[in-house]
Amino acid sequence: MPSAAPASPPAADRAALLERLRRETFDLAVIGGGITGASIARDAALRGLSVAIVERGDFASGTSSRSSRLVHGGLRYLRHRQIRLVRESLRERGLLLRLAPHLVRPIAFTLPVYPDGPDSPALLRLGLTGYDLLAGTLGISRHRALSRDRLIEAEPALRGRGLQTGFRYFDAITNDARLTLAVALSAIDHGAAAANYVEAVSLETTNGRVSGLNCRDLIGSREFTVRARTVVAAAGPWTDQLRAMVDAPASLRPTKGIHIVVPRERLHTNSVVAFYWTERPLFAVPAGRHTYVGTTDTDWRGDPAGVEANADEVAHVLEAVNANFNAELTALDVSATWAGVRPLIAEEGSPSPSDVSRDYEIADGPPGMYTICGGKLTSARAMAADLVDHVVEKEAGRLSRRPARCRTARSPLPGATADFGRYRLEAASAVRRGWGLSEESALHLVDTYGTDHVRVLGRAAQEPDLLEPVVEGSPILRAEAAHAGSAELAVTLEDFMRRRSDLMLFGPDDAAGAAEAVASVLEGALGWGRPERRRQVSAYRDAVARMTAFRAAAGGEGRPEH
Ligand SMILES: Cc1cc2nc3c(=O)[nH]c(=O)nc-3n(C[C@H](O)[C@H](O)[C@H](O)COP(=O)(O)OP(=O)(O)OC[C@H]3O[C@@H](n4cnc5c(N)ncnc54)[C@H](O)[C@@H]3O)c2cc1C
Repeated sequence: MPSAAPASPPAADRAALLERLRRETFDLAVIGGGITGASIARDAALRGLSVAIVERGDFASGTSSRSSRLVHGGLRYLRHRQIRLVRESLRERGLLLRLAPHLVRPIAFTLPVYPDGPDSPALLRLGLTGYDLLAGTLGISRHRALSRDRLIEAEPALRGRGLQTGFRYFDAITNDARLTLAVALSAIDHGAAAANYVEAVSLETTNGRVSGLNCRDLIGSREFTVRARTVVAAAGPWTDQLRAMVDAPASLRPTKGIHIVVPRERLHTNSVVAFYWTERPLFAVPAGRHTYVGTTDTDWRGDPAGVEANADEVAHVLEAVNANFNAELTALDVSATWAGVRPLIAEEGSPSPSDVSRDYEIADGPPGMYTICGGKLTSARAMAADLVDHVVEKEAGRLSRRPARCRTARSPLPGATADFGRYRLEAASAVRRGWGLSEESALHLVDTYGTDHVRVLGRAAQEPDLLEPVVEGSPILRAEAAHAGSAELAVTLEDFMRRRSDLMLFGPDDAAGAAEAVASVLEGALGWGRPERRRQVSAYRDAVARMTAFRAAAGGEGRPEH
């Protein structure tokens, strides 16, 4: 067995980071640890600015762990002639494939065409040609037409009746929560002080200028002030709550989207199948032993916190699947769901929710404060570069130094390596030989952590028990929970089950056993003690019950294994 992990960046230590938040004065204090806030913090830190970032939940616990996980140009936006938005997203897709090849992968899409569909084959061909051209040298592979027979051969689960023809094209896929975490941890590696479970409760003002954040540590219940020369609100669907703190008018038109998860044997696709239902595109996405399908797009009023899929929404997606595939799914097939609120910018007139632009907006004011919202997971790096450029231009004289130019387009995320395809196979083979792990676990480790898989495994050098899977049949190892507690700022059991790993969404049937096993590892890493461990397991079970509450309303039972 290899002896230890190689030299690695210092582990993120929440207590030390909190101490810095209390002590230092920052050039930029960012509210919100979703992909937008994390990207801004990383961008500014890489330029040499001093940066704070506070997140009231876990990193990515807002919309950034509730997306469709596609890193894409957005083919359908071409219909609305949003050429600039599509070009920018395609460029960002290409950059992410290079900067984080372990987290962002190319994936094939299949687009079946039916006579009652919204677009003719000729229009789709034109759109796909434009999509390929807009990607330029950062493209993946060009699209191609598929005959009806080839289509059915490629995706036998598709409804054959009325099927005319189809297309194959390429986009990319990620794990949204892990991508956000990687960006946040990279910001910390480059000097940012970041803490999850810290809420900005009000803004501090000095001489008419915003000069900091009054914060509450939701774990330690302590209050403190983060002093900053400028404040950036990157609060996604909570943006209007923050704007209200400074009497600024509301700017959002939030819309809700849900996804359902079903076992792969109940809906088997070999690629991402894009299909239409009630004039809205949905995607059926293969995810290991599961397939997930989404999303809906409906106006949302209310608190974005704790948003869940309801029985009607689940029924709507099931109806869409059953109409487009040879499937007869019911609510009992749905093992998990997730729901999120898009922070879209309100537009003149009232386009349908799906037609609201996915563009973003930066707003100035009051003095010392900037707000950014809208956009996509895919375009967060570019949004962040734009925001930091803007702040630097407006606040040049006030910052502690003259910052460098944006470096994020050339700075790989932690765990990245060139020629990942080859590295992946070689590294997984070395893990199997060196640590005696199954092929599935070895590939899972390299795919999840890239080159950092050695840090995760290093934890098992002294504690071989950590090489055990969290539960029989899962590729996820106990060492990953230990790593999450020590180096990835996981604070709760759900942080690991939902966002450091995918167990809550795509776990094996015995996920309840996994929760107990993970809790026992986190107990050691975080110093919980028995009562806290029991409290964490119970809170996690409550979260699973909320996620599957749609079942009771649909006349079914909860997910008994949880
Ligand atoms: C259903 C759905 C599907 C989607 N699919 C895709 C897709 O496939 N591809 C794509 O590119 N994009 C997709 N998106 C869009 C993408 O997910 C969002 O644009 C993106 O995640 C928004 O990130 P954010 O950081 O702006 O917001 P969030 O991730 O919501 O982050 C904001 C954070 O601010 C925190 N916060 C709020 N108030 C405070 C406070 N007072 N103090 C401290 N913290 C605070 C919140 O807790 C939250 O974590 C999808 C969105 C949805 C809803």
